[in-house]
Amino acid sequence: MRTQFTFTDPVSLYHAEGFEPQPQEGPGLAGQLSPEPDHGEETYRGTGRLEGRRALVTGADSGIGRAAAIAFAREGADVVLSYLPGEQADANEVERLVQEAGRKAVLAPGDVSDEQVARGLVRRTVEELGGIDLIAVVAGKQQHVEDVTQLSSEQFDETMRTNLYALHWIVQEAVPHLPPGSTIIGTSSVQGYQPSPNLVDYATTKAGITTMCKALAQQLAPKGIRVNVVAPGPVWTPLQVSGGQPDDAMPSFGTSTPLGRAGQPAEMAPAYVFLASPESSYVVGEVINVNGGMPVP
Ligand code: NAD
Ligand code: MG
Repeated sequence: MRTQFTFTDPVSLYHAEGFEPQPQEGPGLAGQLSPEPDHGEETYRGTGRLEGRRALVTGADSGIGRAAAIAFAREGADVVLSYLPGEQADANEVERLVQEAGRKAVLAPGDVSDEQVARGLVRRTVEELGGIDLIAVVAGKQQHVEDVTQLSSEQFDETMRTNLYALHWIVQEAVPHLPPGSTIIGTSSVQGYQPSPNLVDYATTKAGITTMCKALAQQLAPKGIRVNVVAPGPVWTPLQVSGGQPDDAMPSFGTSTPLGRAGQPAEMAPAYVFLASPESSYVVGEVINVNGGMPVP
């Protein structure tokens, strides 16, 4: 049985042909993607790196957040799973996987673009898990718009609130609860350095997440709280087929990376685990790019 440690050719490890267009209504469900994404369900093997940790993961139902939640649980963490109410079917699957790992899963549906919901996630984690010492903010909104004159104020606002404000609200609410040793991980993107012309609002938030996390990292380091960032490249998730990309981009999605294929959520999880775990104790304000080889600053 392959695990994340199995010696493998990264070129041929996964589907490399691009994808059939398969539009879904937002937020999109992992359960409806073809081919099925790999979130590490069969392969991620924990080695006790997050024993006893108390984690909040946003966007935990699907994609990169699901892969992080599975990995965190298998490394020994209890996990609060944040997602949108329309994603209950995906969230139930993650709840099952966390429980199978022998850890506690807490389902926390709600819209993080609402300040009270975002702050409430921290309070819920403290109440249900007896504290909080690990936060992975993975939830994100991405809707392509080809022409800036068509980018509505509503969308601009929602993208900012979901991707940037929610990170601020969650961190601000959490800081008084976070013991030394705690870790916070933001989720940026290759879009933060190489913005696509049709992702003006989204790409702006992704650069902002990196900058916010680098500022917070310096501010919180003296308290023993480490803040870092994962910046994925093209990854096969529902985000992409529910308005993240135009349908006609799917056949070549990911194929222009040096590895020649899209990444899978399972390939993002080890970066989150490394930044979450005490083994990265001297890594502060860093960005791990997990993007198939696209050169970034
Ligand atoms: P995904 O659709 O599986 O995950 C995004 C999640 O965000 C959804 O599951 C949803 O639960 C959550 N979300 C969105 N709006 C929300 C809201 N208002 N309230 C609460 N939750 C909300 O897709 P993904 O690709 O795994 O995305 C996860 C993160 O990875 C995002 O921040 C995205 O920007 C980032 N990212 C993705 C890619 C990629 O190619 N897939 C590349 C770079 C960065
Ligand atoms: Mg989802």
